[in-house]
Amino acid sequence: MTAPADLVLTDAAVHTLAPDDPVHEAVAVRDGRVVRLGSTYDLDMLVGADTTRVDLDGRVVLPGFVDAHTHLTVVGRHEVHADLSAADSRDEALARLAARARDDGVGPDDWLLGYGYDESAWGETDPLDAADLAGLDHPGPVAAFREDLHLVSVDETALDRLAGDLPPGGHDGGVLREAGATAVRRRLSPDRAGARRLLRAGQRRAVARGVTTVHDLVRRSAAPRAYRDMARAGDLDLRVQLYYWRDHLDAVEEVGLATNAGGRVRFGGIKTFVDGSVGARSARLSAPYDDAPDERGEWVVAPDALDALAARLDTLDVRLSAHAVGDEAVDAVLDAYEDRASGRWRVEHAVLASDAAVERMADADVVACVQPNFHRWAGAGGLYERRLGSRRTETTRLRTLLDAGVDVAFGSDGMPMDPLVGVDHAVNAPTGPQRLDVTEALRAYTLGGARAGLAEDEVGTLAPGKRADLVVLAASPWGRPGSIAEIGVAGTLVGGEVVHAAAGAPLARNA
Ligand SMILES: [Zn+2]
Repeated sequence: MTAPADLVLTDAAVHTLAPDDPVHEAVAVRDGRVVRLGSTYDLDMLVGADTTRVDLDGRVVLPGFVDAHTHLTVVGRHEVHADLSAADSRDEALARLAARARDDGVGPDDWLLGYGYDESAWGETDPLDAADLAGLDHPGPVAAFREDLHLVSVDETALDRLAGDLPPGGHDGGVLREAGATAVRRRLSPDRAGARRLLRAGQRRAVARGVTTVHDLVRRSAAPRAYRDMARAGDLDLRVQLYYWRDHLDAVEEVGLATNAGGRVRFGGIKTFVDGSVGARSARLSAPYDDAPDERGEWVVAPDALDALAARLDTLDVRLSAHAVGDEAVDAVLDAYEDRASGRWRVEHAVLASDAAVERMADADVVACVQPNFHRWAGAGGLYERRLGSRRTETTRLRTLLDAGVDVAFGSDGMPMDPLVGVDHAVNAPTGPQRLDVTEALRAYTLGGARAGLAEDEVGTLAPGKRADLVVLAASPWGRPGSIAEIGVAGTLVGGEVVHAAAGAPLARNA
């Protein structure tokens, strides 16, 4: 006699997303884990007096999404402050800031903050500047961050407040780049309570879009402590794997952090930049930018320093996660990774990985953690064409990576945090080498992320014994491949607990 389940979801299309992707009608959960998959008839045998049985009326159930590259406090900022990511024009971005200034939470002396604008989406090349922000009529300082956070626009009041914090080089009409932007971010970085508020807001967003695990890349942040505060208080719904910036490496070594030891909040590895971004022309390329024939980008961390870092991490048995966008930066990462003992070191973004680099990644067991949502810059007439010309078709070649046998994990980088938006971009990419089919794209956001976190025995597919991290979709992505981004998330479960339930959906959130 088998013990009854805690929860049985029936009349569903349960995709395990395992390599052969069998589809089942029902899934049963006990003690936070999947106990059986099968037909509704079979699994009704596991329904006892205390079992919750939910008829999903044909909805699709998938393993929960793993967002393998995000910064959850930044996601939270979009929720808490003015969200400029959906603005279609300069005027709309300013209107969103003005609306935020009228909110109760913003006093006349407070910083008025906006996050996530992208002037290239407005068909413009000039970022917001001090003159734009002066029209807002907010007496306190104003700062608007471009979505890559490498650039921030501030008004005169903000410049006064920041005096002393800003690096030499100053600003260009209120536009601060790189080190200047970092100084503003540091000035505004939240304390422990503030970080917890942002993480809670980010978490609400995450589970509402089906995310059950995040890999969060953190630097000089109160977020690690705030995550652990939440875990202890029982209000951390997500599974979290933290990657600490390389300037924390001494501390990591000293306290002996080991990969994936612990509970909901685990250690994933060390993060470093190697280069910058295409948008800022700081991604390191082997050939010049199309719109700046003298520029090939820059090294944020030079190859010899990268190699020394990799060697040290290898002796500590800690993985490295290296941000490399340009082809020359990706090559430098692979030079540093090859012949290291441990597997599945990560390269973040790998936007312009060459054919040779793709082969090397496959051979060296390197995970490509890529952002399918970056495809929105890859179309004809887009940002990548401006910067890279015809090389725009060589960016984020998902098909090429997968066909070569590279482990591909999807991450949003918070632009926006929404796996279904990313899957949509992957399925509807500009060119064949950049495109995946629906199953492949979903797998990169589930099993791919699990493998990137060395957690595929626990999460990433659905099978008896694995964690019951599930997402219930309102519609089938296979049934509407042209508009996957608009599919609603009916419910999200982590360890069998309902952590998100859409209004009108058959699930109820656990108390
Ligand atoms: Zn990032």
